[in-house]
Amino acid sequence: MEFTGNFFTTIYGRNLIGELPQFVHRPYLVVTMEDLWEKFSGSFDKNLAGVYFVHSLEYEDLVKELDKLPACSCVIGLGGGQALDVAKFFVWNKLLPLFQVPTAMTVNAAFGHRTAVRFDSKVRYIGWAVPEAVYVDFDVIQQAPASLNRSGVGDIFCYHTALYDWKLAAERGRTEAKWPYDASLAAESQQVLDSVLAKLDDIREVNEVGIRTLMNANRWGGAAFHNAGWNPRHIEGMDHFLFYTLEYLTHKPFIHGQPVCLGVYVGSELQGNRAEEMLAAIHRVGVDIRPEAMGVTWEEAAEAMRKMGWYAQQAGLWYTTASEKPVTEELIAHVRERIYATYGPWEG
Ligand SMILES: [Zn+2]
Repeated sequence: MEFTGNFFTTIYGRNLIGELPQFVHRPYLVVTMEDLWEKFSGSFDKNLAGVYFVHSLEYEDLVKELDKLPACSCVIGLGGGQALDVAKFFVWNKLLPLFQVPTAMTVNAAFGHRTAVRFDSKVRYIGWAVPEAVYVDFDVIQQAPASLNRSGVGDIFCYHTALYDWKLAAERGRTEAKWPYDASLAAESQQVLDSVLAKLDDIREVNEVGIRTLMNANRWGGAAFHNAGWNPRHIEGMDHFLFYTLEYLTHKPFIHGQPVCLGVYVGSELQGNRAEEMLAAIHRVGVDIRPEAMGVTWEEAAEAMRKMGWYAQQAGLWYTTASEKPVTEELIAHVRERIYATYGPWEG
């Protein structure tokens, strides 16, 4: 047996939130977002110990919250990414059972062991939380904006560029000693990526097949970092570095999958790695990678492309195509032409 890691128990169905009060440990704390609570509060009963609304992901802020939490016997995380992350942070500190209910397919937070918390606005993944189960309710997911749900492909499409980067680093003798190239691990990533590429229309539709396909892929991806011995090489490459650079330059909030998909397209152009196929897949699944669709200008996105190599180096990130190949003005012009030719001009 080659792979011995585990994945979180994941249950698909309907009325899964309504059923929670029947079986979770009492009293229970719900960690969610204020706007979601209006929608779901009616599903909980008198055993609700309290509801916690997420307003910060800063470590220092969260630590201060720990003492103020009501006494409870378990935690329910209910939300996109942030609520699930904060729920993980609380149970890590309080040693309580956790039940996770993602309300959109935005990120794989429900399926990963560590919590994304900020230290002076910089993300670090710390902690440990394994939920009793993750409940994926078809009706709940389908109520979320389709664009949010579709953006969840970003953290899967990035395997395309990540796998190329890992192999390239190996060929150059630039892989990290702790993360040598592993062909069977790479093949596993590729298989998950292929499963998503085979169901683009279902994911775009956010139908049951699409939800199962993308959430199963995210379930694999969420646990992949741990299962590979805390190795991210097969799941993340310069696709994410472009996003980090954009975030660093603009200080704007993003829907994770949008800038990551832009990074996948720009990265595969830089790699000469089936870029047109990836652009077509991103477009077909319904993720808009025009900078304006993410609330930034073309020039801000272009600047992030130019600075991506520099950013990765000074941040101590791993060796990728961006480490050795500069993003030229020709490439930027080409990317611009292809994006607007595919999506049409931005009309606001
Ligand atoms: Zn990501």
